[in-house]
Amino acid sequence: MKEVSTFCRICEPSCGLIAEVEDGELVGVRPDAEHPVTKGFACNKGLAGLDLHRDPDRLDHPLRRRADGRFEAISWEVAIREIAERIREVQSRHGTKAFASYIGNPSAFNALAGPAMGSFLGQLGVRKNFSSGTQDCANKFAGAEAVYGTSTCHPIPDFEHTDFLLVLGSNPQVSRMSFVSISDPMAAMRGIRSRGGRVVYVGPRTIESARRGEMFLVQPGTDVYLLAAMIEEILASGRVDEAVVAAHAAGFDGLAEIVRAYPAERVASVVGTSAEAIRQLARDFADAPSASATLSTGVNMGRQGTTAYWLMQMLVFLTGNLDRRGGNLYGRGFYPAAPRSGRTDPSKHFFDSEWGRIRKIRGSLPGNLMADAIRSEADPIRALFVVCGNPVLSVGGEAAMREALEALELLVVVDLYPNATAEHADYVLPAADGFERADLNLCGLGLQARPFVQVCGPVVEPRADRKPEWWIFGRLEQALGLDSVLDADGAPPLFGRLDHMLRATGHTAAEIAKAPSGTIVLPSLEPGRFYDDVIQTEDGRVACDPPVFHAEGAIERMETIFESLADEPGERLKLISKREPSMHNSWLQNLPKVRGRHREPRMWLHPEDASRIGVGEGDRVRARNAYGEIEVAVALDPGLAKGVVAMPHGGGFSGSPALRFAAARPGENVNRLLPHGPGSFEPLSGQAFMTGIPVEVEPVAG
Ligand code: SF4
Repeated sequence: MKEVSTFCRICEPSCGLIAEVEDGELVGVRPDAEHPVTKGFACNKGLAGLDLHRDPDRLDHPLRRRADGRFEAISWEVAIREIAERIREVQSRHGTKAFASYIGNPSAFNALAGPAMGSFLGQLGVRKNFSSGTQDCANKFAGAEAVYGTSTCHPIPDFEHTDFLLVLGSNPQVSRMSFVSISDPMAAMRGIRSRGGRVVYVGPRTIESARRGEMFLVQPGTDVYLLAAMIEEILASGRVDEAVVAAHAAGFDGLAEIVRAYPAERVASVVGTSAEAIRQLARDFADAPSASATLSTGVNMGRQGTTAYWLMQMLVFLTGNLDRRGGNLYGRGFYPAAPRSGRTDPSKHFFDSEWGRIRKIRGSLPGNLMADAIRSEADPIRALFVVCGNPVLSVGGEAAMREALEALELLVVVDLYPNATAEHADYVLPAADGFERADLNLCGLGLQARPFVQVCGPVVEPRADRKPEWWIFGRLEQALGLDSVLDADGAPPLFGRLDHMLRATGHTAAEIAKAPSGTIVLPSLEPGRFYDDVIQTEDGRVACDPPVFHAEGAIERMETIFESLADEPGERLKLISKREPSMHNSWLQNLPKVRGRHREPRMWLHPEDASRIGVGEGDRVRARNAYGEIEVAVALDPGLAKGVVAMPHGGGFSGSPALRFAAARPGENVNRLLPHGPGSFEPLSGQAFMTGIPVEVEPVAG
């Protein structure tokens, strides 16, 4: 048996794995105990890699939809030729403006897929691009761009030295972390506490992670007011680091004026806590010898994720904790992305559209507008490429999305699975999985607590007709007469761009692949260069009061939303998104090893809310609002803030018989309760509203 070093391609830590190979077949996957950074850590999802690779329901051959709606297997030669012909037809009838793409979250863990898609779409001239980024993190790009002048600058907590870690909207024990790449985050939390430090989690549910920390319960969507009040308290009590502000702040007075409108006494009832608790949290953060902060999807997916991210940065900056040991540090990694990408002027990304004023964020339009853009009267999308994405289940408004996809003249889906989106495709193309393709752990760039680069080749040859994305798009490019990576004599230069980036550290991908575990460890995060080398604002200062927030109405909206929250009836229920270890968005649902106890997603209610509604554990309820309705079983959770109901995203497989295990336990697609279309996303970032959604819950009779 051969053992091959590789790494997990599911989430940000990129945990090192050992693949066991016998006679050219993958036969086992285990954590890489010798990995210099991840040191033998891997979770249930990564260790289910063998099952993912062998799943009999995976796509193994290109499929073509027949006139009767069923799919038939075809050869790659036929698939490439026919898709190219269909592209030419759409192009000649409607022009390139009729094309669009949607790229899903797994592309972030596939260093060669993004450039392959970029090359193909760029040469075709496709400008209408959507991505799952506007479902979970677009606010962070917009916030970093406004505050630091570039969307690639996200200082992360210095876990090894911090005395106080504030974690908003994140449950690292269950879902690891996002925009922070750290294997075994709970070990880091234990480390902070064992040094006498504090870890405070902020959110609307007492989360599993808080068993080793403190929970600060808030109402959904109110983090922005909590942060504003904390800053107001820090200003009012003279806890600002004046020297840092004098040296590095721009717009400090403007920020001070904004937060003055949100003192703890005013926001407390909306946030769902006491004014004293908010003031104490602010003072504790500011008085800690060092303090750091991070926030994740629980905040991102609210109505004001960008402004919340801005205020979190301000909390760290004003207390002197930005670029300080134990505070938040910029991670250079193997390539200094922030300084190299240069300054972006956020105001240039906004434009007027038929759905109102919108923006592109790192090239992506709001995913919540994709169905509308397909059905646009003025300028409809006629051909769509979906790569490792599942907008039918990931975006709000499933019915509208399904209807829109049926209106397309050409839908091509590239995926591991025949997912819900693929049910509407004309062609479904089988992608190689992480054991079948070469890769580099690009996703953690700038975000790794312990920076490292790992390079691996394919562990085994792709099964059946599966192919990596660079091959699929390279072949389509050739069929369309475009430049292709496959045109090169000999081996295709797959790592060209990555090798160029690696030059900043004096390495090459080929050389790293030969290192033990295919990994080199990079210098640790160090403070001291942020203000000189990293920040990209025009004046080199931290933008405390970003002009784009005023120009695009965000500050005014902050007040309007606050007033509407303050006026809400007390008994209103709000739906939040919940993560579970047995779920991973919508793409691991066919794996028994991940689904664990095989339970369908339930809706969690606070026992008092359940009793008021007249239901108990296991009863079925109907949850509905203006956007849709679902029926689901109840689970009780006294750790929820009252008035909050929680449900994980990723269910809804009743119409997906090709995924046999998932279809037998289909669950409900909670995203049917989410808004979609114009007005359903944060204007500053295009980030969809996906949490804190008002919902009515009633018992299902019988
Ligand atoms: S934590 Fe993420 S990267 Fe690590 S094994 Fe689990 S899914 Fe894979």
